[in-house]
Amino acid sequence: MKFHAIFFAVASSVLIITMTSFAEVKIVADHNRNEYATPDFKFRKVPPPSKSDAATKAKFTIVDGRRDRNGGNLDKLSDGKIPFEEDQPAENFFFNAGTDGGRLLIDLDHVIDIKQVNTYSWHPNTRGPQVYKLYVSDGKADGFNLQPKRGTDPQNCGWKLLASVDTRPKERLGGGQYGVGICDSNGTLGGYRYLLFDISRTEATDPFGNTFYSEIDVVEPNAPVVAATTGIERIWKTFEAERGKYRISIDTSETPYLTEWAHKELAPVLQKWYPKIVKMLPSEGYQAPDKLSVTFSPNMRGVAATSGTRIRCGAGWFRQQLQGEAKGAVVHELVHVVQQYGRARRTNPNATRTPGWLVEGIADYIRWFLYEPETHGAEVTKRNIARARYDSSYRISGNFLNWVTETYDKNIVRKLNAAARRGRYKESLWKDATGHTVQQLGEEWKRSLEKKIAAETVPADEKK
Ligand SMILES: [Zn+2]
Repeated sequence: MKFHAIFFAVASSVLIITMTSFAEVKIVADHNRNEYATPDFKFRKVPPPSKSDAATKAKFTIVDGRRDRNGGNLDKLSDGKIPFEEDQPAENFFFNAGTDGGRLLIDLDHVIDIKQVNTYSWHPNTRGPQVYKLYVSDGKADGFNLQPKRGTDPQNCGWKLLASVDTRPKERLGGGQYGVGICDSNGTLGGYRYLLFDISRTEATDPFGNTFYSEIDVVEPNAPVVAATTGIERIWKTFEAERGKYRISIDTSETPYLTEWAHKELAPVLQKWYPKIVKMLPSEGYQAPDKLSVTFSPNMRGVAATSGTRIRCGAGWFRQQLQGEAKGAVVHELVHVVQQYGRARRTNPNATRTPGWLVEGIADYIRWFLYEPETHGAEVTKRNIARARYDSSYRISGNFLNWVTETYDKNIVRKLNAAARRGRYKESLWKDATGHTVQQLGEEWKRSLEKKIAAETVPADEKK
């Protein structure tokens, strides 16, 4: 068997990766780094995913390994539907967390002439690249084993090794979109009925090394190609903030009734306030994410949640609040995108955990006292004063932070944020900044509130 390497120059946004191929079989791999990836899986060399290929009607079986239930079913690999963003577990198939891949069988029902096999994947980091061996068979050899488990070399039971693929870039996580095309210089790979993928994880340093496979295509010669699409029509708007420094996307594909409001009213708020919040919460050596997205989901309960740079909003609540709290709720989530306190624990094993009330308190302080002070939405009143504590979280803690800012240290939030982001939050920070413990501050704050409320509730005729 003859081995040779195909090596392409690195060009623009696309990296084409070196690989070995067998005989005349050619393997081409394209990589779109995440910032250039679009939902149509457009590559330089590898054709986009198809929904009219032979795999669409084929039968897929897991021969070895287990499906991860956080992902989609096997039909995600052949349904002609592709994910529309980089981290959509349900739109991909992947093997179970903590395991090292597995084997997949494709049965085309009868022997067909195969022109090309293409595999597609998409993920923000190590689950993007593809590592697998592809075996093929017509099923006619003596002693053919249709479902060889790992530990059995398929080449000993009627299979032929067609390609060995590894698209992992060196020295990088490898996030992004990958397309691998396996074809032959003769124009056809040969006649086969079965394909066996022996898929490996890309890394073993954490349980999340199994690739997010989005689609597998088996292309016949001269077959018309109908490009695969995402399951739904996409409605999204991407815009820049601070002269191109930040890119923000709003996705209302699943909630078209929010599109007009989101584009006209929400977008300008994000554009102005994301850079502002970044400047409010600096810390040494820290660069805030330069890309974030806001997605409205009809199925999400509650208000909103942020993971990493992705903000998800519950459309049900937003629909009721368009003239009320809707924009402010997204501003609160923007603060979480800037905070990124979780990062410290990934790099520093001794990182302390920032208390939840403070994380939420900072978000609500910025929202209620800096973004929309005129709404007085975080006022403590006669109605809720009895239960108010400095660590009550959300707007009550926001109120407390505002009071400490005005009374003792106008930089207290900035200092707490910088410590939290490095995993160095500790209670003594309060004493260092103000001369009082957080508990003492909490009591003093509460007394001042009680005084204020008592003054306000004096009957009108006694006021003079
Ligand atoms: Zn929050």
